[in-house]
Amino acid sequence: MNSHCTPTDRRGHSAKIFGNRSTALAAILASLGAAAAYYAICLVQRGVHTVADHLAAIVVAVAAAVAVVLCLSRLQRVMNAVSAELETMAGTGEIGHVSGRGAELLVPVVRPINNVLARCRQEMDALRDVNRELKIQARVTDAEKQHTEAIIDSISDAVVVTNRFDELAMANAAAEELFDFTIAGALRKSINHVVNDGTLVRLIADTRKHGHTQRRKVVSHSVDTDGETRTFGVTLCCTTDKRGEVSGVVAVLHDVTKEKEVGQMKTDFVSNVSHELRTPLAGIKAYIEMLLDGDAEDPKTRREFHEIISSETDRLSRLIDNILDIARIESGVVKVACEPMDPTAVVKATLEVANPQAAMKNIELAEELAPVYAQIEADRDMINQAVMNLVSNAIKYTPEGGRVTVSTKIDERHGVVVFSVADTGVGIGPEDLPHLFDKFYRVRGSSKMAQGTGLGLSLGKHIVETLHRGRLSVTSKRGEGSVFSFELPICQ
Ligand code: ADP
Repeated sequence: MNSHCTPTDRRGHSAKIFGNRSTALAAILASLGAAAAYYAICLVQRGVHTVADHLAAIVVAVAAAVAVVLCLSRLQRVMNAVSAELETMAGTGEIGHVSGRGAELLVPVVRPINNVLARCRQEMDALRDVNRELKIQARVTDAEKQHTEAIIDSISDAVVVTNRFDELAMANAAAEELFDFTIAGALRKSINHVVNDGTLVRLIADTRKHGHTQRRKVVSHSVDTDGETRTFGVTLCCTTDKRGEVSGVVAVLHDVTKEKEVGQMKTDFVSNVSHELRTPLAGIKAYIEMLLDGDAEDPKTRREFHEIISSETDRLSRLIDNILDIARIESGVVKVACEPMDPTAVVKATLEVANPQAAMKNIELAEELAPVYAQIEADRDMINQAVMNLVSNAIKYTPEGGRVTVSTKIDERHGVVVFSVADTGVGIGPEDLPHLFDKFYRVRGSSKMAQGTGLGLSLGKHIVETLHRGRLSVTSKRGEGSVFSFELPICQ
């Protein structure tokens, strides 16, 4: 069946269908019928008188009947064929044409049917073309969507895309995690029901509403997640359609919590450093002025003033050393010279230096050292400094007559040497423990017991954890004493 034939073709085809043979047959049958009818009428008009007349009339009538039956059955066959052809077209969906072969009487019906079918075929062909194009467009759109999704998924910032009705059109994994939803279940839902954050929902709606005047804005916004508040720089941008009308909003949430904290820490650090430096400087200045004014006339007072100035100068120098050490470690410029060493030797060297300080307060300085068969790999000066800070603190914050024990233990299961400094001192309350290693942090009332900078533990933690990948921790109970411990890996 040719589905692309032209009207001219079709006319030619129809002429063939209703061609000479069938036309002649139909003409013969029709003439036979007509002749028989004519003859029968003549007989009736002349009257039927003889047997021959009767026979002639019967023959004529039978001939007429046979002619009619033949015509009708032929017509029936052609109609059946036309019907079958139409049924086939309905079944296959392929529009061709009906032949109507051998039924000249049906020509006036078959021709318009074929015209209608030809028109349907043309329209079907056109629709098929449109459909094919739409399918290609859908495939391209699908590929573009997947591409866009892959791009936004690769962004570590949370991205939320809404349409012109403020419904969720797209989001990435970071947004799912931040706002605790799944994209599959949230698509096309009002953003109000997806994001449990009234401010962000309002920001998105406002951006869409005022998109024709302001296409992009950046705001700072805090989000509460799992009990912690995170600060985000939120960039909101309108999307537009081909006509330039606002079709939705893209919101990108960049987590600036860390930057904010670091900024705050820098500010705090600078103000703490200036404050801490000013205190000993003010003392030194005051005593120098008193000396210059002649306020210390006798040698004993003068000596006292000199000693205070010297001690404040030491404090100033310690403070500056600690600040510089911490700053150097934090900025990563410190080079550690690690070498295998005996942990016992580290402790013994420290105790030797700390002995006079302990003796002055009548504090017993004890050691409990593991047998020497394990070695650690560490920077000797740095580790000595860390142990010294802990031992010195233990002596400072233990009242006279107390006890400080320095011990080493070998934890073979974890492959580490554990250093501990335990004291029977004032101890530390639970509210202070989380801040103990912060720079410049001092427990309230500590200054009454001993001078300090609030930097010793911070430096110790940096030495152990940043430079030696160990771990420094503390357990303490107010009034009962403290145990500071750190562990370093055993040399293989
Ligand atoms: P500081 O120079 O003030 O001693 P540190 O950073 O070494 O600075 O210690 C911070 C604070 O921790 C101290 O001011 C003190 O309040 C507390 N602290 C440190 N070690 C002990 C300890 N062994 N016992 C009680 N409190 C301690």
